[in-house]
Amino acid sequence: MRRHRNSKVVATLGPASSDREQIRALFLAGADVFRFNFSHGSHEEHRQRFDIVRSIEKEFARPIAILQDLQGPKIRVGKIKDGGITLERGQRFRLELKPKKASDAVAPLPHPEIFAALASGTVILLDDGKLRLEVRDFGADWAETEVIVGGPLSDRKGVNVPGITMPISPLTKKDHEDLQFGLKLGVDWIALSFVQRPEDIAELQRIVKRRAAVMAKIEKPAALLSLTQIVDLCDGIMVARGDLGVELAPEEVPGRQKEIIRACRLAGKPVIVATQMLDSMVNSPTPTRAEASDVATAIYDGADAVMLSAESAAGRYPVESVAFMDRIITRTEADPTYRPIIEALHPEPEATAPDAISNAAARVAQTVSAAAIVTYTTSGSTAIRAARERPVVSILTLTARRPTARRLALLWGAHCVVTPDVTSFQEMVEKACTIAVQEGFAAPGDKLVITAGVPFGTPGATNVLRIAWIERQPPS
Ligand code: PGA
Ligand code: MN
Repeated sequence: MRRHRNSKVVATLGPASSDREQIRALFLAGADVFRFNFSHGSHEEHRQRFDIVRSIEKEFARPIAILQDLQGPKIRVGKIKDGGITLERGQRFRLELKPKKASDAVAPLPHPEIFAALASGTVILLDDGKLRLEVRDFGADWAETEVIVGGPLSDRKGVNVPGITMPISPLTKKDHEDLQFGLKLGVDWIALSFVQRPEDIAELQRIVKRRAAVMAKIEKPAALLSLTQIVDLCDGIMVARGDLGVELAPEEVPGRQKEIIRACRLAGKPVIVATQMLDSMVNSPTPTRAEASDVATAIYDGADAVMLSAESAAGRYPVESVAFMDRIITRTEADPTYRPIIEALHPEPEATAPDAISNAAARVAQTVSAAAIVTYTTSGSTAIRAARERPVVSILTLTARRPTARRLALLWGAHCVVTPDVTSFQEMVEKACTIAVQEGFAAPGDKLVITAGVPFGTPGATNVLRIAWIERQPPS
C-alpha cells in the first residue's frame, strides 16, 4: 500500500480515536505514525491501542511507527484556595513550597528546584502563559511576585519559567515507569518532553539502549542554546510549538521552527512539526486557510512529518483532520514552487561512503529518470542518508529488520518493505525489481537506482550503486 507523498503524518490517539474502526480509518486517511501521549490515559488504554495499531499493520502489510510521548518534568501549581481564584494585575502573589494555608494571595508550588533557580525579575507564567508573574523577592522555599497579567487560576495549572535552565532530572518517576512500560510493549520511538540539555538525551539513550529510537521535543528555549549537540545525540526531533510558544513570544516561533528543521536536515535526523497545525478542526470539519498555510510551510521547509494532537485525539473530526493534512501535503509537494524551495536548503554530503553513494543515487535517479531509489538497509541509517538528499523520486527501503522498517515510517520519502537479506548481486537486482513493481513504484521498462552494502547484510557498509532495468517480462 503506497502513499503518494514524501512528508508523513503523525496522528495522536486519544478518546476520539481508540477503537479499531477509528484507528483503521485514521490509517487509511493517511496516518503513518501514531503518537501515544503519556500525559493522558492509563497503561491499559495505551496497551489496547498498541495492539490495535499492530493488528492494522498486519492487515495492510505496511510498517507503522508507534511513538511514545513521555510527559517529562511538567511543572504545576498545587491546590488553589477553593479550587480557583482570580489574580488582579498589580497585586502581590506568593508561591510557596508548602504554604500553611492557600489563600487569595498564596499558592503552593511543590517544586523546590524552581525556587533555587529564581532571580529578581524572573518571569513565571501560569496556565499556558495566560497569567504572568514577575519575581520581586524570594527565598529557598518561597517567592514574592507581582502580577503583570492577571486572570483566573485553578488547581494544578501548568507553570513555565522561560529562559532559565532548571536543575531538574529530565525523567520523573512517572516517566521511568511509563518508559519501562513502553519498552516492554515494544514502541518504536520514545519522545522526551521539556529537554533542556544534551545530557537529558544522553540519559534517556543510556536507559533505552537502542531498543527504540529516541526523540527530543524542543519546547524549552534552553534547548535551543545547545541545539546542535541535542540533535547529534538523539535520533529525531519534535518542534513542540505548544510549550515552545508559551516560553517564547509568538513571533519568535516561526524562525526557531526553521532553525530546528535546518539543523535536522543538516544532521540527517527526522523532524516533526507539531501542535495546533489544524487546531480549528477540533470543532470544525474544514481548516482555516491560515492553518493550511502553516502545514504547507512545514512541508516547504522539508520537515519529515507534521503532527495532529487534539485534532485526532479528542476532536470532533479526527479522520477529516488526517485527510486534510494528507491533501495539503500532496498538493504542496506537487506545486512547481516546491522543489526549488526544498533544494535551497540542500546539505552537502559528508565525506563518507554512504553519503557519497546516497548523493550519487539522487543525481543518477534524476539523470536517468529512474522510477525510484531502492535502498537496502539494516539499521536504517542508509535510508536516512538517502532521505537527507531529498531526492526527486521515492525511496523504496528494503530491510530484514521489522523494527527498522517501523522507525523509518516517520522518514521523509521512505516506503519500507520487510524482506530477508539478499546474498548475491543478482538477487539484489531481482528482488528490488520485483518489490518495486509489487508496491506500485515502477512498471516493466522502468529504471531503478539501487544502493546496497557489500558484504550484504552488514550494517553501515553502503558502498554499491547499481542502475537496473525492469524487464518487460518481470522476473518471477
Ligand atoms: P505536548 O507537546 O502536546 O505533550 O505538550 C507538544 C507541544 O508542547 O507542542
Ligand atoms: Mn509540550
